[in-house]
Amino acid sequence: MRAKGTSNVKFAADVMLGTLAKWLRILGFDTFYSNNIDDNQLLEVAWREKRILLSRDHQLVDGVNPKQALLIESKKMPRQLRQVVGAFHLSNAIALFSRCVDCNVQVVPIEKAAIKDKVPAFVYQNYQEFWICPKCGQIFWPGTHKTHAEKWLVENSILI
Ligand SMILES: [Zn+2]
Repeated sequence: MRAKGTSNVKFAADVMLGTLAKWLRILGFDTFYSNNIDDNQLLEVAWREKRILLSRDHQLVDGVNPKQALLIESKKMPRQLRQVVGAFHLSNAIALFSRCVDCNVQVVPIEKAAIKDKVPAFVYQNYQEFWICPKCGQIFWPGTHKTHAEKWLVENSILI
C-alpha cells in the first residue's frame, strides 16, 4: 500500500471536465486543465508530460494509447470523481488540500509567524498550521472548507 499523497499518476482533463479537474486537485492529484487550448494542444500536453487523458469524448480517447486515457462515463460529479479514484486505485493516495486548486502546484508549509499580516485575525488565533502556494502566494489552513470537503467525499463514497 502506498503512503498518503505519493501516487505518481498525473492527469490532463479536457475542457468539459473543469469541476472534475478542480476536485482532483483538491484531492491532491496533479491535474492539468485549461479552457484556453484545443484538443490537439491537450493531447500534446498529455503526451509530453505523461499525463492520463480524462475526457468524455470517445473520439479523443480512441486516438490515445488505452493506458494513457480514461473515458469519463458520467456527466455528473461525483460519479466522475468516483470513477477516476476507482480506476487508478487512488483512495489511499488522497492528500486533501495539498495542492493549490488554482495553480496545480503542491503547497508548502510556512511558519505561522510569517503569515500574521496575510490572514484574518481570527484565523491567525485559531489555527496553528499554515501552507502557502509557491506560485500564487495564497495561504491555506485546515478550515471549515476542509471539514465540508471530507464530509462530501465520505457521503459520496470517495473517501472511506
Ligand atoms: Zn496557487
